[in-house]
Amino acid sequence: MSRFLSSRFSSLAAYVPGEQPQDRQYVKLNTNESPFPPSPEVLAAVNAAEAERLNLYPDPECTRLRKKLAALYQVEEDNIFLSNGSDEILNFAFMAFCDKSRPVAFPAISYGFYPVFAQLHQLPYTPIPLREDFTIAVEDYRNIRHNIVLANPNAPTGLALSRAEIEEILRANPDHVVLIDEAYVDFGAESCVPLIGRYENLLVCQTFSKSRSMAGARLGFAIAGAPLIADLNRIKYATNPYNINRLTLAAGEAAVDSNGYYMANCRTIMENRAYTVDRLSKLGFETLPSQANFIFTRCPKLSGGALYAALKERGVLVRHWDKPEISDYLRITIGSREQMDILLEQIQEILKEV
Ligand code: PMP
Repeated sequence: MSRFLSSRFSSLAAYVPGEQPQDRQYVKLNTNESPFPPSPEVLAAVNAAEAERLNLYPDPECTRLRKKLAALYQVEEDNIFLSNGSDEILNFAFMAFCDKSRPVAFPAISYGFYPVFAQLHQLPYTPIPLREDFTIAVEDYRNIRHNIVLANPNAPTGLALSRAEIEEILRANPDHVVLIDEAYVDFGAESCVPLIGRYENLLVCQTFSKSRSMAGARLGFAIAGAPLIADLNRIKYATNPYNINRLTLAAGEAAVDSNGYYMANCRTIMENRAYTVDRLSKLGFETLPSQANFIFTRCPKLSGGALYAALKERGVLVRHWDKPEISDYLRITIGSREQMDILLEQIQEILKEV
């Protein structure tokens, strides 16, 4: 820290992203990326002709992409907001809707960026404990006089609430924004997008990073009533109007056009998930029922930290947190069948040595 850093940030603990090692080729199951490449249409769209136009600013309104997403999700164009990864929506939403008199609440075990954004913007926040089985207790979110942020499915557990349960939370908090972070919704959970016209306090965010194989392009989107979208735009135009670059916009448009390709990949991931959970259970692992492209699983014979380290040594990267409530667990991204077979083989080898 330099002596020039504002005292506002002197105690800020930044988000620690999963490792992105550049030294060695790992079977990379640690940051929930897709094992599948972008669709052929996306590869064609990010072509030399588009690259040649990089001297020009991109369309700040993302007109074509908003139109395509509105058609896909059966909403209006003014219900859509595009962002540089869905992390940016979270950042803008914390800025736009929370303050000292409107604190924010989220589950105590959830996406690690939520408390970071709260701290960054110096907002009061309340982490709400999960039940012992890691489920979210809907009754804990009734009339709590907070804005609410819920990842659905939750991360890192993979457990999802039903749309009806989220509707209860929306109804119980009509004067507060309820942000549903649907980063992983395409892998089996119920989306809240169909509720958009009915709840003015609902803000849904999704990403192209997981189900649409575009983590490297940084593209996310929010769907909400037009007034909430206008508020997000107010922050965007005060922060970074050209938040989506030209190549990413072109890639995003082509990705929406090839939606069938991505939804088929999601089905493959769900099959690979069932296969992996089944094989792990035969090795004695306990795995939470996931509706995401990752699983949260516990080995009966080894601590989470020990298994993480042993797998890394063998070239398989997974995610582990040193927090007491979850330190027994690993979060493992579901990749291709070949990647899962390597993981399972290495786990078997490690267990032989225990
Ligand atoms: N929400 C959740 C729950 C996530 O796990 C992630 C990925 N780390 C994000 C949002 C952000 O993803 P991105 O910025 O790549 O869209």
